Order: sequence, then C-alpha cells, then structure tokens
Amino acid sequence: MPKPIPQTDPHANYLAHRAEIDAAVAQALDSGRYILGPQVAGFEREFAAFLGVSHVVGVASGTDALHLALRACQVGEGAPVFTVSHTAVATVAAIEHAGAAPCLVDISADTYTLDPNRLEDAVQAVLRTRRAAPSGQTPSRSRRGAIIAVHLYGHPADMVALAEIAQRYDLWLIEDCAQSHGAMIGGRTTGAIGDIAAFSFYPTKNLAALGDGGAVATNAPELAERARLLREYGWRERYISAFPGYNSRLDELQAAVLRVKLRHLRAENQRRRALAARYTAGLAGAGLVLPVERPGVTHVYHQYVVRHPRRDLLREHLAAQGIGTLVHYPLPVHRQPAYQGRVWVGDGLPISEQAAREVMSLPMFPELRDEQADRVIEALRAALQR
Ligand SMILES: *Cc1c(COP(=O)(O)O)cnc(C)c1O
Repeated sequence: MPKPIPQTDPHANYLAHRAEIDAAVAQALDSGRYILGPQVAGFEREFAAFLGVSHVVGVASGTDALHLALRACQVGEGAPVFTVSHTAVATVAAIEHAGAAPCLVDISADTYTLDPNRLEDAVQAVLRTRRAAPSGQTPSRSRRGAIIAVHLYGHPADMVALAEIAQRYDLWLIEDCAQSHGAMIGGRTTGAIGDIAAFSFYPTKNLAALGDGGAVATNAPELAERARLLREYGWRERYISAFPGYNSRLDELQAAVLRVKLRHLRAENQRRRALAARYTAGLAGAGLVLPVERPGVTHVYHQYVVRHPRRDLLREHLAAQGIGTLVHYPLPVHRQPAYQGRVWVGDGLPISEQAAREVMSLPMFPELRDEQADRVIEALRAALQR
C-alpha cells in the first residue's frame, strides 16, 4: 500500500521551514527575553500590517483571544452573544468565560457560516424578551450584546449583512478568524472588518505556532488598549492593576516561530487554493456536495469540506486506503453534554445538525502533493460507486 495520507500535517510544515524556524528560535533563546519582548512586539507589528489593522495584541490562545475581545468590548454579564453552533466549541466556551449568554443561530447550508436572515429573527426574539439597556449617559456604555461571526473552514461569513444587523440592533461585531488567516472579502482581510477580531495559532491552523498562541486585532485604539491590559492582570503600570485582568500572554518563542510562518502565509494559502481547485475539478459530478465560494470572497481552505448522507461509510473506505479524514464537527455545540438544554437555540438548528451528520474534511495542508490529492479523488470516486 502507498504511504498513508494524513488529514493534516503540522510536522511537514515545520520541516518545510526548519532552517528559518530553528534560527529564529535560537535567536529568541539567546536574547534572554522570554515573555512580552521584541519577538512579540515584532510579530504584532507585522501581523497588523498583514491584516491592514492598526493594532494586534498577542495572547495565549484563540479561545483567550475571543474571551479578551468580548471583555475589551465590555459585553456585560448575561448579555446576549449571537453566534453559530456549527463551530469549534471554543467559540461558545469563550462567550461563557466572559459571563455572557450564548445565543446559537443556524448556518447557511452552502457556506456553513452564520445565516444573516436567521440571525435577524434570533436577535429580535432575544432582545424582545430583555429590557432595553438603561439610556446611556456615560460615553463608554457598552452595546447591548455582540455577534461573533465565525469564518468557518476559511470561508468568510457574510460580513456586509452581519454589519448591518449589528448596527441596527446596537451589537458589537466580533470576528472569529481562527480558521481564516488571509481570507478576504473584496479587498479587505477578515479580521479587519468587524469591531474586533480573534485569531488562533494552534498548530493545525493556516498560520500556526508550534504550541498555543492567539491574537486580538482591531482598528479601535480603546479596544486594543483594554485587550492589552487584560492579558496581563490589568497592569497599566507593572504590579499595579488598573482593573482585574488575566494572564494570557503570547511567549517569545511562539512569536519568533510565527514571524517566520507569516512570511510564508500568502504562498501557503495559494497552495491550499490550488489543491481545493484540484479537488473540485476531480470530484465534480461524483455526487458529493462540494465547497462553494460566495462571489467576491477569497476562501483560504483551512479545511476542504464535502458533504454526503453516507459520510461515515465513505470515511471508512478512505481509511482502508490509508487516507485520513476528520469531521469538523461531529456534534453541534448545543448537542454537547456541557451545553445541551442550557443555551438559547430558538426553534432549533436543523441545518447545523444535518451538517454535523454529513460533513467530512479531506486531507488539506500546503505540503500535500498533487499526486496525493489525486489519490484522494480516485479513492473517493471509487467509494461513491460502491
Ligand atoms: C481553533 C479555533 C478556536 C480556538 O483556538 P485555540 O487556539 O485552540 O484556543 C476558536 N474558534 C475556532 C473557529 C477555531 O477553529
């Protein structure tokens, strides 16, 4: 049997940049600075330039980035935060870390992202049951809640429609960019469109550390300032907390790795897009639902996700050929034991539940070779004919 094909391969990405990464890590080790030093400052500056935002704040993980983004917006205790159930559990966990109330909304069946029409219905239903916030005298009064748009699989959510709803209902618009580093809508990069954005650098993401890492990005100086203080105990001045904060720092070694990886991100996203085009051409007419790209967006294919009612059987056939697949995600958040029956889901989330039953993620990473993608295509076509 030919060599197995993994679904993802962070080690291959390390090997692809090994000399540069090893040199950058050695330099960081020799600098004697290990926390919040020149590597983190350099990465924050370079990633801000890449995104086209004025501020990036490095933090310890993507989950923390979402949490601190919500805290920076001062989304209040119990305030509604609208997002999807078809996402990494981290999105919903972070809402509860901030003391806010997750309100889960169904997705569009074609792009797997928050459906703006269903969102508007949900916002009306939830806000109707809550008393309006006291009329604001203080200029810093926060908005009534937030929307977290998840750019799932690397496809941007419909930010134009979501921004309109956010504005109409006085909600913050937060982007979960954990899967969308470099994805664009028109000429704008995801992470530069909403009020504030959260990134993860978990080792399998498009921009990946060799450990945990995350970042908050925003154009609003006051939000950036709050996130920056929140990541270290609310210290404006060392050892003096201006307000209660956390410990959520990006470390120098991970920042050094990220500076190297960032230089290759555009090329690697291009490679993902080329592999996706190969899959789409090779699988056309095979009876699978294939990914689509909404006109005007640049999808960065964190995952290449296909859909089929006999998904589990197809996965078994592929596994027998040494081809790895994964399911992102097998159980919507509102069906998981930690959340079931406890989070707001309106009249239910049928599209999310169907997606969880039918989706599978094919092998997708920049080092995947064309002939390997062709093997995946052949094996999948054969499995579909059985
Ligand atoms: C990975 C991921 C996160 C969480 O990031 P961590 O760095 O693992 O904490 C949040 N949201 C989405 C959509 C993700 O894919």
